[in-house]
Amino acid sequence: MEYEKLINGAIEAREYAYAPYSNFKVGAAVLMEEDKIFTGCNIENASFGATNCAERTAIFKGVAEGYKTIKAVAVTGDPNSYTFPCGICRQVIAEFAENGDIEIIVVKNKNEYMIMTLDEILPGSFTKKDLNN
Ligand SMILES: [Zn+2]
Repeated sequence: MEYEKLINGAIEAREYAYAPYSNFKVGAAVLMEEDKIFTGCNIENASFGATNCAERTAIFKGVAEGYKTIKAVAVTGDPNSYTFPCGICRQVIAEFAENGDIEIIVVKNKNEYMIMTLDEILPGSFTKKDLNN
């Protein structure tokens, strides 16, 4: 099942997080076209503004390899609670999402996760369709 692969991918990617300042490790896995999965972790920087989130790391890896359509995203942060994508990542997911119904899997651990749609976590999104009007 793709969910299991995505969930495991996010959990494994979290281990690579570079978070010496916040100590808050995050992992993400994104399912793109051709069932390709890309994973990412958060990467902090001494110049905090240069920090990149796990979700964007995963998405940018995919885009950089020619994949431009997101079908689902899994993210995991604090293993004791649900860590949702931040506002910037929600916007980047919206840029490449196949549609607003794609599933965002918010993972606490292998057995506990919640599934929401992009439209549920980013209602009224501003996307490329708005620029085409
Ligand atoms: Zn983010």
